[in-house]
Amino acid sequence: TVCFDGVSKSYGAKEVLRDFDLRIGPGELICLLGPSGCGKSTALRCLAGFETITRGDILVDGTSVVGTPPRKRNMGMVFQHYSLFPNMTVLQNVAFGLKIAKVDRRERLGSARCMLEQVGLADFASRYPNELSGGQQQRVALARALIVNPSVLLLDEPLSALDAKIRVQLRNEIRSIQHELGITAIFVTHDQEEALAIADRVAVMKDGRLEQIGTPQELYAKPATPFVADFIGQSN
Ligand code: ATP
Ligand code: MG
Repeated sequence: TVCFDGVSKSYGAKEVLRDFDLRIGPGELICLLGPSGCGKSTALRCLAGFETITRGDILVDGTSVVGTPPRKRNMGMVFQHYSLFPNMTVLQNVAFGLKIAKVDRRERLGSARCMLEQVGLADFASRYPNELSGGQQQRVALARALIVNPSVLLLDEPLSALDAKIRVQLRNEIRSIQHELGITAIFVTHDQEEALAIADRVAVMKDGRLEQIGTPQELYAKPATPFVADFIGQSN
């Protein structure tokens, strides 16, 4: 369980998250949906520990993580832009998280191979990132995030840089892997079609606040505000 409890975050005088509340159940995939600048990435960065919050609390499995350094929060992260190490092979990239955790080499590489198989890239182990397509690189990034068995998987617009066809294919794969592993996940997007397609529940944000949260059906059938109706009703 992840719980944002009245979280506020300011940069100088600018309040980017305002009394933000969100509760995510075990194994749930929540999409954070909202326009550019509404605070989606900031919410993830606060959960991951890259930003300190100004007010409120963030709890993971009932324990506050405020003050815990990022590497001890056990989060797996995938970003929009490929964050692979260019000088490491695919296998070394995936195994990297376990190196930090001081798992021995044989075991590390064995687990990394399993993970690569899970994302359909078993044959690409000895390639370098620049030899892969954007979609393949994001699969590697996903494998690298998952290998440490994180308590929460954080995805910040992981598909935004990819073409439409690959996006749909990859979002379905992410969904099925997340479901299979039963891992709690937050998927940030500004694409309402993507959010409605994969989320258990969608959290719509506006100006640093939670505007509405509900299942895709609930949001579609009963938008709570004109903002939600407009945002959900848009077509790309
Ligand atoms: P996008 O869809 O464009 O990625 P977002 O919803 O992820 O947007 P954030 O990146 O969380 O939005 O930014 C929220 C607000 O905080 C924006 O107005 C942004 O300019 C501001 N902001 C983000 N990071 C910083 C920073 N390090 N210093 C000052 N302001 C910041
Ligand atoms: Mg963002």
